[in-house]
Amino acid sequence: PFSSCRPKVCIVGSGPAGFYTAQHLIKARPDVDVDIYERLPVPFGLVRFGVAPDHPEVKNVINTFTQTAKHTCCSFYGNVTVGKDVSVGELQQAYHAVVLSYGAEGNRSMGVPGEDLAGVYSAKDFVGWYNGLPSCQELSPDLSCETAVILGQGNVALDVARILLLPPIKKSVFLPVPTVCCLNAVCAELREMVNLPDTRPEMVAADFEGVKDAVKDLPRPRKRLTELMLKTAMEIPGEKEQERRNNASRVWSFRFFRSPIEIMADPDNKRTAGIRLAVNKLEGSGDGARAVLTGEVEDVSCGLVISSIGYKSLPIDPSVPFDSSKAIVPNSMGRVQQAAGLYCSGWLKTGPTGVIATTMNNSFDTARSLVEDMDSGTLDISAAKPGSQSISGLLEKRGVKPVIFSDWEKIDSVEMSRGEAAGKPREKLLTVEEMLQVARK
Ligand code: FAD
Repeated sequence: PFSSCRPKVCIVGSGPAGFYTAQHLIKARPDVDVDIYERLPVPFGLVRFGVAPDHPEVKNVINTFTQTAKHTCCSFYGNVTVGKDVSVGELQQAYHAVVLSYGAEGNRSMGVPGEDLAGVYSAKDFVGWYNGLPSCQELSPDLSCETAVILGQGNVALDVARILLLPPIKKSVFLPVPTVCCLNAVCAELREMVNLPDTRPEMVAADFEGVKDAVKDLPRPRKRLTELMLKTAMEIPGEKEQERRNNASRVWSFRFFRSPIEIMADPDNKRTAGIRLAVNKLEGSGDGARAVLTGEVEDVSCGLVISSIGYKSLPIDPSVPFDSSKAIVPNSMGRVQQAAGLYCSGWLKTGPTGVIATTMNNSFDTARSLVEDMDSGTLDISAAKPGSQSISGLLEKRGVKPVIFSDWEKIDSVEMSRGEAAGKPREKLLTVEEMLQVARK
């Protein structure tokens, strides 16, 4: 049949990278069939499980992804874990090309004593918990403490802080890693923090000494951000703002030049009771400036420590090249090195930095490389390949039942109607079992 002569591509992972790669492929090569395999029964990766619930507008990209998923050339197979239910080698046998877009599901650890105590979490798990990721539902963190410490200075750290400032946590301390501040991407989020209802910032003015002189030489996004921090830290607020701050019941602050040395335990040696920090100072100037230890330490009492120091991609199949030092699949323009027919996009390709727009661009680049290889003959698409037909057979033999896109739409509609009843946009299903139950009705 005609369809068997079509080039067949499969994509592993249905986050922004997977969907944007699919979107570009379908547009550039209308003769291509694209199948997306996803570990969970639900699509959209970190758009569903990462993006903060108080940023619903960011989730609008789901509409574009849905259009792609419903395209006649595209199929979605959820509930299939590549590397476990089916190997990358088996996918390569069935498809002309395989694009790995499975994101970054690990996290960097702090490597300090006490990291395993109750009350210490990675931002990855904490975000997964408040966003309804099934594997993080057992976390159930105790939020009754007075102070939380967040280590890190990126968008994710600010997301976590905003969310924490909603429940009755009294104080949230920010502790960036001890490098020169590089808060380029978070200007909007910082503005949000400064204006967060019922909270007041408490910055340490001494941290900003000398910063004023450096501001004029900064590139534009960083300049605006630094000016906003300076204003918040140094300026005496107007009467109305002062009143708002006086009445605030919760406090947040940034503490620069600190790095964690140890998480301290309570007398029972079970829960975290505080964190010991090294105090750093800058040596050198400009891009060569480095934070070095001063020898001073500082203890902060807290009941919650969240380390937001980066996500990390993991290898899923021993046959796929993996650069453990950079935690990415080594590639040039999305072509996996020394692996013909294998491509990668998204955070797995670049490392876990960048927003959805960045991920979109690098995924379009990968799709372009793939199309170029098809057009030039570098990628052999002359022989017919079975695509999903053979993979479905394999999965059936292994007792794995994929969730297709119309099954996801059943889950979606149950979640939306539960949300409507609770007066919110969506009430997520929290276990894979329940998702599968709804999908199979
Ligand atoms: P992911 O979104 O992680 O998608 C990977 C997918 O692969 C997942 O669905 C996963 O289940 C699946 N997968 C994993 N392993 C397998 C396997 N073995 N087999 C099959 N499937 C697998 N960007 C913004 O623009 N605005 C924001 O407000 C914003 N907020 C963020 C908040 C947080 C907490 C985080 C972490 C990121 C945020 N980002 C935001 C960044 C954005 O989420 C990323 O740029 C983007 O999601 C990366 O896309 P990806 O497809 O590479 O990875």
